[in-house]
Amino acid sequence: MAASLSEKYLEDNNIQSIGILLDIGKNILKEIGNNRAEDEALLLMSYLLNKSKSEIFLNRTEAIPPEKSKKYIRWLKKRKKGVPIQHITGYQNFMGLEFAVSKNVFIPRLDTEILVEEIIRIIENITEAKCLHLMDLGTGSGIIPISICHYFRNESINIDFYAVDISVDAIKLAKKNARLFNCWNRVNFYHGNLFQPFSEEKYMNYFDGIISNPPYISRKEWKNLSDEVRLFDPPDALLGGENGIDFYHIIVKKSSEFLKPGGFLALEIGNVQKKSVCNIINNSGDFQEEILTFRDYHQNDRVIIAYKKKVRIR
Ligand code: GLN
Repeated sequence: MAASLSEKYLEDNNIQSIGILLDIGKNILKEIGNNRAEDEALLLMSYLLNKSKSEIFLNRTEAIPPEKSKKYIRWLKKRKKGVPIQHITGYQNFMGLEFAVSKNVFIPRLDTEILVEEIIRIIENITEAKCLHLMDLGTGSGIIPISICHYFRNESINIDFYAVDISVDAIKLAKKNARLFNCWNRVNFYHGNLFQPFSEEKYMNYFDGIISNPPYISRKEWKNLSDEVRLFDPPDALLGGENGIDFYHIIVKKSSEFLKPGGFLALEIGNVQKKSVCNIINNSGDFQEEILTFRDYHQNDRVIIAYKKKVRIR
């Protein structure tokens, strides 16, 4: 790819102040039609200098050491090639925490904060239990259990999380994140397929809650995904079969064996899956009739919560 005018300017001039470099970054990203050029240039700068966005605005005239401006330009060149910001900086903010990301693991999405916030609300309303056993299926980088444990770190309630993923890379990354946020003693990580690590009898009716953000992209949606998602997120973390709902069938069917009576099942879902996932839950006969649904920041249906029946009727 030929160097753009902005890149050329940088190569020829050994500047820079934060402000000048930021404007150059914005222009480089605009040249490729990035409609979030300004935001992204700022975000990259904030990771580069380890400063908040407001600190950057307040210090626009500050000089940047040449090796830092070279790094910034290297980052912008990667971004021009379509590499996700998170793979460039190595981090994604989720629930106010900077989680490490890695190449072969699904990049956390902010939509999942809705799921985490609702679970936090449920836990806050549980007054009778001293220790909660929670399961996270398909934990990826570990954002769900780690951010929940981090939120309750100073509370008297004890949380014992069992997080599983079929990808070895995901488990490695999740463990790294657990160390980063000191949740090591509250989250147990397992490499395995969905419920497989919990085949022991003691896990039956053991869990207060089961949580999952499973792969839910349908075959049709996959074709329309942006290159950034299709080329850089692992397909196995996204694809949920022909209609995107394969994992919900398995999770709903199996989870009632593992949940205590009255325990909750909290699922992230795709935009158009509310009806079908509610039907799967209702048809199982294992859950209470009232199913709660929540929308994300873009007003798309995103989260479903159902409670296991208190008495088994079937
Ligand atoms: N929300 C993700 C996306 O649209 C998909 C997440 C998932 O399949 N669990 O890229």
